[in-house]
Amino acid sequence: MKNTNLLVVGSVAYDSIKTPFFRVSKALGGSAVYFGLAARHFVKTLLVGVVGTDFKHFKTLNKANLNVSGVSVKKGKTFHWSGEYGFDLNTRKTLKTELGVFEHFEPVLSQTQKNVETIFLGNIHPAIQLSVLEQLQKPRFVGLDTMNFWIEKALPELKQVLKKINLLVINDSEARELSGETNLLVAAKKILGMMRGTNSHANKKHIIKKILGHSKTLIIKQGEHGLLMFSFVPSPSEGRDGEGLGLKIFNLPGFLLENPIDPTGAGDSFAGGLMGYLAKTQDFSWSNMKTACLWGSSVASLCVEGKGAESLEKLDFKKLKKRMGEIERLKD
Ligand code: AMP
Repeated sequence: MKNTNLLVVGSVAYDSIKTPFFRVSKALGGSAVYFGLAARHFVKTLLVGVVGTDFKHFKTLNKANLNVSGVSVKKGKTFHWSGEYGFDLNTRKTLKTELGVFEHFEPVLSQTQKNVETIFLGNIHPAIQLSVLEQLQKPRFVGLDTMNFWIEKALPELKQVLKKINLLVINDSEARELSGETNLLVAAKKILGMMRGTNSHANKKHIIKKILGHSKTLIIKQGEHGLLMFSFVPSPSEGRDGEGLGLKIFNLPGFLLENPIDPTGAGDSFAGGLMGYLAKTQDFSWSNMKTACLWGSSVASLCVEGKGAESLEKLDFKKLKKRMGEIERLKD
């Protein structure tokens, strides 16, 4: 029987957030928390992270049905991130990053966690992402998030981990920085090349074999403007040019909100909804990835309508399904 559990490694945090509409100090947050709160609607989700002795939210995470046996408690303070949004909510400034116990985070997976087949490596040092990958016993599909900070500070390690994953989820400025290209189509081709571990002159047959055995997909998030998804398929006739392969492109518009309140966690909850649906269906085909993107956008849009992680804590599947219906109708 297939293991449909989902494992996420990332930050469990306290966030202090300022938007033009509200402010909050030290509310529950972190990439693994937002991801888990989204993914739990689809599959059993196991969190791996670290918190300090000041962490008071295990009850909330348990109540949300998240498996937190992989969240260790260390003497010291929980990771604290503080950010401020501009008037249009699109621009974010990080005011403070206090790593606390997260600074010495060295995840050691239990036997149950090692056996999980669908994994998401949240935004942490690429060397830690690599160490988690090395502990897994039968990874079937691995997604990964990163940020400008790691592109600038740990590019060699990041390039190494990119070759070992199936899906990269980043935003447009990160895609530009990682590829060194301003044009997103050119950037996407370059990044998919990095993920395949081949240069553009590599032998065609070799590339096709690699792709068939190990799918490589890139999602570029564009905030309120939606997302672009790219993948190479083995048949040139099916997509656009790409070294004798077809480049598939999917563009999902953003779901326009009249009342966005707080975009914190939108990216992580998008990834949680997407990966949760993929883990549940165990179908990693291009067509199912498109449906997974719709689920990811549904949960992210609901996240943005609330303050911090609150809206996701309260979210029930009925409401999520209703939003999914509204997003599906964007195609009409
Ligand atoms: P998002 O809005 O989806 O990009 O994610 C926001 C979440 O990421 C917040 O809950 C933060 O606690 C967390 N976060 C911010 N900076 C970092 C970092 N350097 N490493 C890990 N998590 C972070």
